[in-house]
This record gives sequence, structure tokens and C-alpha cells, in this order.
Amino acid sequence: MATQWYNLGGGDFVLVGGSNIGAILHEGRAIVVDAGLDKEAARKALRALEGEGARVAAIIITHGHADHFGGVGWLAEQARAPVYASPLEGVFATQPLLEPLFLYGGAAPIVELQGKFTLARQGVAAITPLNVGPQAIAGIPLEIVPLPGHAPQQIGVAHDATLYCGDVVFPEETLERHPILFCADMDAWLASLERLPTLPYTGYIPGHGEPIRDIAPSAACNAARLREIRALVWETLATPQEAPAILRAVATHYGVTFAAPQFFLLALTTIHAALASLQAAGQAAVVMDDNRMLWHRTT
Ligand SMILES: [Zn+2]
Repeated sequence: MATQWYNLGGGDFVLVGGSNIGAILHEGRAIVVDAGLDKEAARKALRALEGEGARVAAIIITHGHADHFGGVGWLAEQARAPVYASPLEGVFATQPLLEPLFLYGGAAPIVELQGKFTLARQGVAAITPLNVGPQAIAGIPLEIVPLPGHAPQQIGVAHDATLYCGDVVFPEETLERHPILFCADMDAWLASLERLPTLPYTGYIPGHGEPIRDIAPSAACNAARLREIRALVWETLATPQEAPAILRAVATHYGVTFAAPQFFLLALTTIHAALASLQAAGQAAVVMDDNRMLWHRTT
């Protein structure tokens, strides 16, 4: 994907590419927000920052997915800069194997999960854990905003009126192409999306796609998709089902054909998230039946 460097004014920049790399510039220092899939992506951001006369003073990771932190280890070494993340997401960035391990149910991952989209080539040597709230990093005043759901402890980075918001929203085109968006915690994500339009920011820089001025339509569209998936899962439970069969039904509804096991496993996580949400709401329950883990409706 072609990359483009945007100057949004007020010291806010973003390199829009496969995964976006944000940058907050202040008196020649830069805080980089996520660093892309790999060192090639991070190198492009470093060059763009050099072009602005800025040196990387710190790196913040919004969440521990390889397409966001794969370039961080290299960039941190080059810049000798500290790396910050929420405690849980930071663990994923220091231990890249955790992501494919989780996607494969805790077992040593199959080769299909060892591509760089799910297994970063380089981890981050050390993470400084971040708490939410206002704070200064590298002498730059920021606010760390909790945005959990897509990943369990995802955060956003607010600088003045701009929020670098990770994967809390996906562009509409992405939702068209990949209808079953990756979700770890459906209730937490829906709550994040409900809160998003009430936040006081006038610019949003998502992890994928172009910067956004009005976040409300995007938040509504992502929330609608999550609710639709949750409803589809519940509908599928008219007869008791195992999770992979539920995924198959949801994929059929959206006309999705998974081309490889990793795409199936990513989407299966979303189905598991929907089932946990339904269980928590008292709308579904799981039972063991003849060595099958069967989900059924309770409402
Ligand atoms: Zn992500």
C-alpha cells in the first residue's frame, strides 16, 4: 500500500500506510504512536520525521497487535527511545509469540500463524507501563485514553484536540472487505464506541485509513457491525452449536470465504467474544454434550 505523510497542524502528523504511524512533534522532539508492521514501515516514518527536523524521543504502542508494533523494536533501537504501552498490551509487544499462541488456543502456533501480520519479526526489548489520564511523556503533555475492546487494554493518545485512537474504529471500506472485524471484548468495545463521540477531540487518527474529523458516523458504523455479529450469533443458536459452526453461519451471512486458516482463527476470536458477551448478558450458555462444547440460547 502506498504511504502518505500528513501534517495535520498543531504538531500532529501521521504516515498513512498499511498500518498508520502517528507522530506528535514538539520543539524538535517526536513521540511516535505505533510503528507499523515491520522495520521498512518504521524506516519510512523515521525518514519523514528527519525531514521535519525531529528526533524520536519516545514511542507509544496503542495495542499489542503485530501490525502496530512490528516496527517498534527496530525504531526504538535506532532512536534509543523508550517504549510505552498499557501493561497488558505491552506484554504482547515484548513477547511477539503471545499473539499467535493466543490465536491458536495457547498451543505452539501452526505455520499459517507465523506470518508477520500475527508474529512480529522483532519484539520490543522493554516497555514502560502506561496508566490512563493526563501526563507528560518526553516533556510533551498528553492524555492516555482507555479504548478497550478490539484489544483488551487498547489505549488512545490525545494531544491537544487530536486523538490517536488505534483500532477503535475501522474505515467503512475495511468493514466491507472484512465484515467480521477482530474483537477481543465485545462489551468493552461497544462501550468505547459509545463514549468516543462524547470525547472533546476534533481530529481522530485511526490505526488504519485516513484521519477523521467527525468520529460519530464511524463509531456508529463499527458499533452497528459488532451488534449485528452478536445478533447473528444469537440467531444461530436456535439449535445448539459449536463455535466453529457459528462462525461458518456468520461468514455465510456476510458472503465471506476464508482463504487460509489464520483468517478463520482471527474471526473465530470475534465469535468467542460475542458468545462471552451473550453469556454475560444471560442470553446464551455453554454445556458439554457428548464431548462437544455446545452453545445454546437462554432467552
Ligand atoms: Zn489491531
